[in-house]
Amino acid sequence: MSTILILLGPPGAGKGTQAERLCSELSLPHISTGDLFRANLGQGTELGQRAKQFMNAGQLVPDEIVIDMLFDRVSAEDCAEGYLLDGFPRTIPQAEALEARLPADASVRALALDVPDDVLVGRLTGRVTCRDCGNIHHLQFSPPAKAGVCDACGGELYQREDDSEAVVSKRLAVYREQTAPLVDFYTKRGVLSQVDGNRAPSAVGDSLMAAARGETV
Ligand code: AMP
Repeated sequence: MSTILILLGPPGAGKGTQAERLCSELSLPHISTGDLFRANLGQGTELGQRAKQFMNAGQLVPDEIVIDMLFDRVSAEDCAEGYLLDGFPRTIPQAEALEARLPADASVRALALDVPDDVLVGRLTGRVTCRDCGNIHHLQFSPPAKAGVCDACGGELYQREDDSEAVVSKRLAVYREQTAPLVDFYTKRGVLSQVDGNRAPSAVGDSLMAAARGETV
């Protein structure tokens, strides 16, 4: 039986950070559609070119592009026993496509992180990402030892184009409109846990681990 964990939450809720801990403790591959798009962008693929205009405008990439890319990735051998989804699904049609694809005995759990909008804006606009290893620093909350240089690997830190203030407010509006309905979608299926994401990362991670094990949080 495969285990599918779905991490839901607005941009800046801490999905990437928390996904790493969950994946290492539960030995699941971390599948981030945003990372897959950024890797394609970096490699200059046609898929990356198609996604770029949407990403830089803070919009969602069209469903059929995302769904094809995601299904291609989760067909790989390392996903046979399950995986954690970070940033997918983001629309009801994506969730329906996933549901239709999963085997009947798959165990699905959706974990939704709640964080107020003003906190999200502060987190996203101060965020800098390593070009080489993807590690994230925050200019105020976790500044690098040396400005512009990643503590983990020495790579160059940059601000994602979609983390600028104008694009962040668009991404949050898109989230509320197109992705937040997934909370209802998974609640109706009895597989959703909501977790307060406005706490120290370790406390949020403890709650997510408990919820992933099916405990009430
Ligand atoms: P993320 O790193 O998850 O914030 O994703 C960055 C950007 O990639 C998003 O703002 C979207 O433009 C695009 N993207 C990532 N995942 C999806 C998805 N499931 N559906 C549509 N667009 C996506």
